[in-house]
Amino acid sequence: MNSQIPKLWLKNGRETPVLAGHPWIFSKGIDAGPVDEDRKPAKEVGLVRVYDGGKNFLGIGMYNPNTSIGVRMITIHKDDEKSFKIDANFFVRKFKKLDIIKKEFLGAATTAYRLANADADWLPGLIVDRYENVFVFQIHTAAMDKYREQIVEGLKEAFDPEAIVERSDIDSRKADGLQSLPMNVHYGKVAGPVAFSENGVKFLADVLKGQKTGFFLDQRDSRKKVGELSAPSADQKHGKKVLNLFSYTGGFGLYAALNGAKKVTTVDISESALELAQENFRLNGFKIDEKKNFDKYDFICADVFDFLSSIKIGDYDIIVCDPPAFAKSNDKIDEAKKAYTAINRRCMELLSPGGILVTSSCSGRITQEDFREILKFSAGRAKKDMRVLYSLTQPFDHTERVSFSEGRYLKTFALQCLDHF
Ligand code: SAH
Repeated sequence: MNSQIPKLWLKNGRETPVLAGHPWIFSKGIDAGPVDEDRKPAKEVGLVRVYDGGKNFLGIGMYNPNTSIGVRMITIHKDDEKSFKIDANFFVRKFKKLDIIKKEFLGAATTAYRLANADADWLPGLIVDRYENVFVFQIHTAAMDKYREQIVEGLKEAFDPEAIVERSDIDSRKADGLQSLPMNVHYGKVAGPVAFSENGVKFLADVLKGQKTGFFLDQRDSRKKVGELSAPSADQKHGKKVLNLFSYTGGFGLYAALNGAKKVTTVDISESALELAQENFRLNGFKIDEKKNFDKYDFICADVFDFLSSIKIGDYDIIVCDPPAFAKSNDKIDEAKKAYTAINRRCMELLSPGGILVTSSCSGRITQEDFREILKFSAGRAKKDMRVLYSLTQPFDHTERVSFSEGRYLKTFALQCLDHF
């Protein structure tokens, strides 16, 4: 049956990263494109058997002749040379295995996680987030897009789910020659936002209309850290005053409030995100006034850049800055670096000595080193001496493999302002 899967050869020497588990083969590393048994080029999006410059089988990949990442590997098991098939059973096996390794260190207090993290989990272009027994998936690539039915069947059989939702309403599909698709509930019913726990904190995720798959599961560890930093220190009666910028549904600020923060201000440009943020606070026992005349817990619908010009130095002890990805394509990198520098500089300027900035970048195209450099320039311009308290990244369910550094996209630094200046 594998003779139907076309073969593809790499240029000499290009096999080394693949052997070490790197899932990508750039089109310039491919020798003459994929060829079938007669060595006729095959031009179609789909599976290919990958060989090195000689006759050695390296694995099976998903091929797209129209993209710079020509092949995304789906397996490097030698046995798959003879027989390999993607059907519902393939996904059942994969999902069950992934579920075990994702749950292993999660703890019972967390009931939502990334079941499948695309290429880093050997499922190129497929993301599956699990919120208790509701599954939300996204397909990013043309080759994976052919297996929608098998993915849904696989999830049904592996988990007996309450619902399966597809959120492929994403512009990034265009890079693979695909259109953004409308949200689709493939199975079961979703009556409204889905409830789950994260480190014991209760949340609602709007899996039908919210951003991404409904929640930013990747900031779990950093939210916990902000909670710890917001608590009163040994010699204090009150916790910190916390400003949560780009809050989405309030996660960072809610951890702060639960840990005894004296004040939490939650800022986002999206009205619906802020409504859910208030709902999330209520769900955890906080009394949030409908008329919005709060003093301790404040929810402000505003552009962060405008909001920041309305506050003074020292108004907040902790500022959380988690903007959307500024570098959405390679030609936007310089622009993005400028935008990150501007926002971080402004946040640092607003800190008094002892104040803390917890700042993130989720642009995969900005590396950890780039982000450090950006923060160095920001601090210089703000004339602040900042020490690194913590450096954090995506949690382990958003798998990062040593051989695949491109898989790390989320960088978070907790920086404290010192008082030398
Ligand atoms: N920290 C959040 C995730 C942030 S996602 C969490 O823990 O869940 C980025 C958020 O920035 C989105 O909610 C988006 O609505 C908001 N946003 C984007 N541009 C903005 C702007 N200029 N001002 C305020 N909010 C903005």
